[in-house]
Amino acid sequence: MGEILDIIELGHPVLREKARSIEPIQDDRIQRLVENLMATVQKANGVGIAAPQVAESYQLMIVASRPNLRYPNAPSMEPTPMINPKILAHSDEMVKGWEGCLSIPGIRGNVPRYQAIEIEFYDRFGKRQKLKMTDFAARIFQHEYDHFNGIVFLDRVASNHDLVTEKEYQKRLISTIE
Ligand code: ZN
Repeated sequence: MGEILDIIELGHPVLREKARSIEPIQDDRIQRLVENLMATVQKANGVGIAAPQVAESYQLMIVASRPNLRYPNAPSMEPTPMINPKILAHSDEMVKGWEGCLSIPGIRGNVPRYQAIEIEFYDRFGKRQKLKMTDFAARIFQHEYDHFNGIVFLDRVASNHDLVTEKEYQKRLISTIE
């Protein structure tokens, strides 16, 4: 089991940097970072994390979609490390959905994202993988991918009126379920 890393927050300059691509993937330091990021996202109850969020400016993300209190409708998938990923194709359609970020605690945004994407990435063994993702999983990927370019979800909302606090978000969520 990996080590829990400190998550940096908005205002830390690394969150605004462009992340480097990883080569070679088999490097011990990179493999340890994969382990540690997996442990960190699990501990934080997150559905995704990007290496820049632990001040490691590399193109590495973990997508770990699963239903939880904050995202009751999220699909379950094994935590998947994705290295040097690229978006090969995307739908024309964009959909708005609620997002938060471990680096921006207390705020949620209703963010437009492509409904479907086709991606390629290298897995932790250095094998190239292709994947089609839709809806919430596609949203997680696009959110984490933005971190590689120094972009956070606040930069993506159509209007500041699409931002709410966590407390107000929880109230809306409860009223939607009931
Ligand atoms: Zn984030």
